[in-house]
Amino acid sequence: MRALRITTLAAAAALTLAACGGGSDGGDDTAAPSTSESPAAFADGTRMKELADAGKITVGTKFDQPLFGLKGLSGEPEGFDVEVAQLIAAKLGIPEDGIEYVETVSSNREPFLEQKQVDIVVATYTINDKRDEVVDFAGPYFVAGQDILVKADNPEGIEGPDGLAGKTVCSVSGSTPAGNIQQNYPEAKLVLFDTYTKCRDALRDGTDGVVAVTTDNVILSGYVSESPDDFELVGKTFRDEPYGIGLPEGQEEFCQFINEVLQEADEDGTLQKAFDDTAGKFIESELELPEPRGCDS
Ligand code: GLU
Repeated sequence: MRALRITTLAAAAALTLAACGGGSDGGDDTAAPSTSESPAAFADGTRMKELADAGKITVGTKFDQPLFGLKGLSGEPEGFDVEVAQLIAAKLGIPEDGIEYVETVSSNREPFLEQKQVDIVVATYTINDKRDEVVDFAGPYFVAGQDILVKADNPEGIEGPDGLAGKTVCSVSGSTPAGNIQQNYPEAKLVLFDTYTKCRDALRDGTDGVVAVTTDNVILSGYVSESPDDFELVGKTFRDEPYGIGLPEGQEEFCQFINEVLQEADEDGTLQKAFDDTAGKFIESELELPEPRGCDS
């Protein structure tokens, strides 16, 4: 049993990462929220009513990020983000088989929402002003922090972003951590792929001279959970990444509804259970739901 502590800068508080035989406790039951409670009656003309009447919702999420959104043998993605999407669907009265998951990578989340290819995006999606110009965000529901993944025993001795100077670090196009490196750590050599698994593989194989991967601590933790002998986290976060639920612009009521769903799930413990049943198998965290940022477009 190895234990590694990772800390976030804000609401997610201290996360304890404990790797033990791959991080699985053998149970694979997830916190599938019940749809047995009758959904609230929604007013005509609202997005909630449209979705509830259709009995279907299309959710953009990640398919290659263990702990938050990973499509495995079940054929459906699993993880904390998937659970959050299920909580929202359940409150709309939509059964689990009414949820269609579409893979979103970091760079296509705004376009997929703008083109209405998906109804919501729950995909380790950081709220920021630039994105907010073209999409809306409910939440935040979690605060991650940017961190660095290195090979086990940290052969390059990288202790933080300044230690990336002159070294090759991998991240993903259209992600906020990649933008942070470009803007604030220009001496790092940045290699960009479209998904984090490609970065993980490049780190493992040393492709293109990659000696580190940077993105949110919880994503990197997912790769450590799968290969604890190969990788480790530097474990010092250097920027907040507050996760929101992306919506097409102008759906203020739906945004407010989602914030109420999150609030309720926080109060009745469903959100914590959703975390504990997924990411919490590897990352211990007492969630504290951050203050909602408001839904004014
Ligand atoms: N949270 C960051 C972002 O939204 C990084 C994770 C990701 O790329 O999904 O850009």
